[in-house]
Amino acid sequence: MPGFELFGNLERKEVNDVLETGVLMRYGFDGARQGHWKAKALEAELQNQLGAKYVQVVNSGTSAVTVALAIAGVGAGDEVILPAFTFVASFEAVLMLGATPILVDVDDTLTLDIDAVKAAITAKTKVVMPVHMCGSMANLDALQGLCKSHALLLVEDACQAIGATYKGKHLGTYGDIGCLSFDFVKTITCGEGGAVLTNNAAYAQLADHFSDHGHDHLGNDRGAEAHPFLGYNFRISELNAAVGLAQARRLPEFINIQKKHYDILREALSAIPQVQFRAVPEGGEESYAFLNFFLPDLETARRASKMLKETGIDGCFHYFDNNWHYVRRWQHLMEAKSIYPFSETVKKSLESLKTKAFDKSDHYIGRNISCLIKMSWTEAEVVERARKMADAIRVSL
Ligand SMILES: *Cc1c(COP(=O)(O)O)cnc(C)c1O
Repeated sequence: MPGFELFGNLERKEVNDVLETGVLMRYGFDGARQGHWKAKALEAELQNQLGAKYVQVVNSGTSAVTVALAIAGVGAGDEVILPAFTFVASFEAVLMLGATPILVDVDDTLTLDIDAVKAAITAKTKVVMPVHMCGSMANLDALQGLCKSHALLLVEDACQAIGATYKGKHLGTYGDIGCLSFDFVKTITCGEGGAVLTNNAAYAQLADHFSDHGHDHLGNDRGAEAHPFLGYNFRISELNAAVGLAQARRLPEFINIQKKHYDILREALSAIPQVQFRAVPEGGEESYAFLNFFLPDLETARRASKMLKETGIDGCFHYFDNNWHYVRRWQHLMEAKSIYPFSETVKKSLESLKTKAFDKSDHYIGRNISCLIKMSWTEAEVVERARKMADAIRVSL
């Protein structure tokens, strides 16, 4: 990752198809588009590759999470349980729907800790949303069991883990609903884009209508369509979908390259006894978009992070000190700094984050380093990088 590293003629051809007809809109204009339906083709490609019965492509990963939660019926008064280690988009989607995000600890999988989820369930909980961070996954069997026993829905934020699988299923297709992102730095990119995955026909229809103003998509006169319920505009354009289509076809190629590079780096770091790799639940296979490991303590991780940078190794993140991915630095969230009013319930809950302890997450995120796996490296570059990384870590111990 990211997919833009390997942009080429395949992407160009799909975009040219769209520019030649001039139809940038995913719906309608049937005659003018000369058979080119890029958003629909991207949906079919993802259905095929990922084994999802239904796919609704939208204009961002944030939109995908928003649509997923909306079709799950999440709204005012509801609580969504999600991890304290994620990208800000995950809680933004909950807030946009007027619901309350309940942040809980992560464990050595770097995703939801089962006991923390159990402890956070209340009468208001509607959805449990694991976020499969940095190319790997939560313990989905355990979460699914918990959701079933409490009549909750399982919505997977798989935005960072396309191509990873759990017990033979692609991430995003295991729960009730799944979400993908194709933003500029993801494994499959189309500039801005995302997808909602589900095996449930009723959810699929809600996603189809909700993401296009609630239009019922019946008949072939858009102006005459009815609105069974309110919706908004989360549509992707044909230009973005065209790039996404070319990229999605290359997913197996991308995962293979990532795995090859990941294996070389992992082998080099395995020789250091103090390096512990992230836990992957039994039956899981990573997407190899990142190599994630733990060092013995926070200070060692800080030293190693600094040393890696000084050695010229880019793309290694110590998320504990980062503003985008960990609760510690989400001041704007804890202070409920919204430019429009929030409900008292949401405000109170957010303010309680200021005093909420995340000891378990601190323990793991404080010691974690996540290294991005690029696809454009040559094999010689990966080998050199592996050597430099191992050296930088050794001198930090
Ligand atoms: C990238 C990302 C999103 C949102 O995706 P955008 O396409 O950038 O809106 C959501 N969740 C996670 C975990 C992400 O990494």
